[in-house]
Amino acid sequence: MSNKILVVSEMKDRHLRNVSFEVIAAGKEAANGGKVVSVLLGENIDDEAQQLLHHGADRVITVQHPDLKNYTTDAYQQALVQVIESEQPDGIIMGHTSIGKDLSPRIAVKLGIGLISDVVKIEKEDNKPIFTRSIYSGKAFEKRIIKDGLFFVTIRPNNIAPLETDDSRTGETISFEAEIKGLRTIIKDVVRKATGGVDLSEAKVVIAGGRGVKSKEGFNGLKELADVLGGAVGASRGACDADYCDYSLQIGQTGKVVTPDMYFAIGISGAIQHLAGMSNSKVIIAINKDPEAPIFDVADYGIVGDLFEIVPMLTEELKNELNITASVN
Ligand code: FAD
Repeated sequence: MSNKILVVSEMKDRHLRNVSFEVIAAGKEAANGGKVVSVLLGENIDDEAQQLLHHGADRVITVQHPDLKNYTTDAYQQALVQVIESEQPDGIIMGHTSIGKDLSPRIAVKLGIGLISDVVKIEKEDNKPIFTRSIYSGKAFEKRIIKDGLFFVTIRPNNIAPLETDDSRTGETISFEAEIKGLRTIIKDVVRKATGGVDLSEAKVVIAGGRGVKSKEGFNGLKELADVLGGAVGASRGACDADYCDYSLQIGQTGKVVTPDMYFAIGISGAIQHLAGMSNSKVIIAINKDPEAPIFDVADYGIVGDLFEIVPMLTEELKNELNITASVN
C-alpha cells in the first residue's frame, strides 16, 4: 500500500537547509510509491517551494505568516499540527536538527503518536518502513517499526542522500492558512554571531579541535584548514570549557552529533562522550601527540605528533594540491 508522507523543510539565513532535501529522499523511501508532501513555513518563501519540487517533492504546502518568519516553538507547533490534521498523512519526517529536536516531541504529544528519533537509515520489509537509529552513544544500532497507524520520525542530517535536483520537475504548490494565536514568545530581531562559514551539522568535512589546541588563537590554524577543505570547525567540550571556542561548536553527547564524510580530531583525546557525537563519521583522521590516546581506536588514519607542526604543514600541502594560491580567510 502506498503512503502519503509529510516532510518538514527548514530554512537558515533565508536558504533551505540541506536537510530539507534529505527529508524528501527519506520520504520517498518510506512512501512505497506514494506521494511526498513537503511543508515549508516562513515568509516570502515561494522560490524555496519551487526548489523543493526540483528536489523531488510531489507537492509543497507553504504556510506564510509574519509569526513564522523566525522559528518559535509555539508558532511552528501550531502551524504544523494544523497542516498535519488537515493532510492526514501516513507518516511525518523531520530533520533531527535543533528545530526538529525541539518540535517533534511536542507535536507527537499533541497528536498522541509515537516518535522514532535520530534515524540514520530507512529500509523496507513487507512494504513497511524499518527505521535504524543509533543507541548507547553510537555503539550499537537498533531497528524499529511502527506496527500500526501514523509514523513520525526525525532523521539525522548527512545520512540519507538527497535526490539529484532536476529543474524540469514540477508539482503543485498550495498555500495553507494557519491560525496562530496566544504566542508566548515573539522574536523581535535575530542578531547573528559573525561566524559565517559552513553549517557544522551539515558539513561534509569537520575540523575539530580539543584542549590540545591550547588557545583561541590555536583555533585559527584549524579555521584555515577548514577553509581550504570547505569544511566547518568543531570542538570537544574540553576546548569549549577552556573558552577556546563557543559552545555552539561542541560535538558529542551533550553537543552536536555530526556524520561528515571526513572528520579531523585534532588534539582531542577521544573520551566516550566526544565519540558519541562523531564516531559514525565516514573517515576519521586523528592528530595527537599521545600514541595511546583513545581517539586512535576509532580513527581510520592517525598521525602521532605535535599538532602545531602538523596542521600548518597539512594546510600548505593541501593548498598546493588543490591549487589554492590566494589566502583563504
Ligand atoms: P583532553 O582529554 O584534555 O585531551 C587533549 C588531547 O590533546 C590529549 O589526548 C593530548 O595528548 C592532546 N594534545 C595535547 N597537546 C597536543 C599537541 N601539541 N599536539 C597534539 N596533541 C596534543 N566531551 C565532548 O567532547 N563532548 C561532549 O558532548 C561531552 N559531553 C559530556 C557529558 C558529560 C555528562 C560528561 C561527564 C563529560 C562530557 N564531555 C564531553 C567531556 C569528556 O569527558 C572529556 O572531558 C572531553 O571530551 C575532553 O576534551 P579533550 O579531548 O579536548 O581534552
